[in-house]
Amino acid sequence: MTAGSSDNVLSAVSDNLKRIRENIAEAKFKAGRTDEVRLMGVTKTVDPEIVSFSVKEGVTLLGENRVQEFLDKRDRYEGSPEIHFIGGLQTNKVKYIIDKVSMIHSADSEKLIREIDRRAVNAGLRMDILIEVNIGGEESKSGVMPEALDELAYMAAEMSGVRLRGLMAIPPIDVNGSSEIYFAKMQRLFSDLKDRTSGDDRFAVDTLSMGMSGDYETAILHGSTIVRIGSVLYGKRIYR
Ligand SMILES: *Cc1c(COP(=O)(O)O)cnc(C)c1O
Repeated sequence: MTAGSSDNVLSAVSDNLKRIRENIAEAKFKAGRTDEVRLMGVTKTVDPEIVSFSVKEGVTLLGENRVQEFLDKRDRYEGSPEIHFIGGLQTNKVKYIIDKVSMIHSADSEKLIREIDRRAVNAGLRMDILIEVNIGGEESKSGVMPEALDELAYMAAEMSGVRLRGLMAIPPIDVNGSSEIYFAKMQRLFSDLKDRTSGDDRFAVDTLSMGMSGDYETAILHGSTIVRIGSVLYGKRIYR
C-alpha cells in the first residue's frame, strides 16, 4: 500500500466508524436501551496497520476468525485492544490462542468446551465463552441446536477453566431478506438462560453476540450486547 492510498483508507475508516457509532446510538434509542452495546472490529483480511488505526480511534475490541492469521498479525497491533476469538475453532488449535484472547464466541460442542477448559486450567486462567447457537437450524452451519443448549450450558458450568458469559449466533437471512425472526429467537433464548442462571454463581450470563455489517441495528433492537462489524468498518473483503 502506498502512503497516499493509505491516508484515504484511514480517513474512510474514520468516517465509517463515525457513521456506525451514530447508527448504534440510534438503534439503542429506538430500543429504549441505556445499557452498553460494544462495537467489535472484525479483522479478517484487514492490514494490521488499519486495525491499529481503528484501535486508536476507539475500537477497543477486536474479533479474530482465523488462528494462523491472528498469530501472524497480533504483534503488529498497537494500543493493546481486547481480543475475542469468533471463528470456527478446531480443538487442536485451542492451545495456540488460549492465553492470547479474553473470550471465545464460537464454543459449539462438548469436545471443544472440554479442550478450552483443559488448556485454560493448564495455563492457570479461566476463559470466558459464549455458546454459539445454530438458530436457523441449518444443516451445514456451526453452532448447537437450541434444544441442546441447556445441556451444554450446565456442563460448562461445572468446569473451573471456563465461564459461560452468554450466547452468539450468525443467523441466516429469511425469504424476506431479514434475520429479524432469528434475532428475536436468540433474544428469548438469552433472556431465558439469563433468568434461569441468575443468582447461580457458576454462571455470569451477560453477553449476547449478534449482528454484523448488514444487520447490526436490527440485532440491537433485539438485545445484542456485542455487534461484530467487518466490511462496513474496514471496507469490502476479497474473500470471506
Ligand atoms: C466476518 C465475520 C463478521 C463480520 O462480517 P461483516 O459482514 O463483514 O461485518 C462477524 N462475525 C463473524 C463470525 C464473522 O466471521
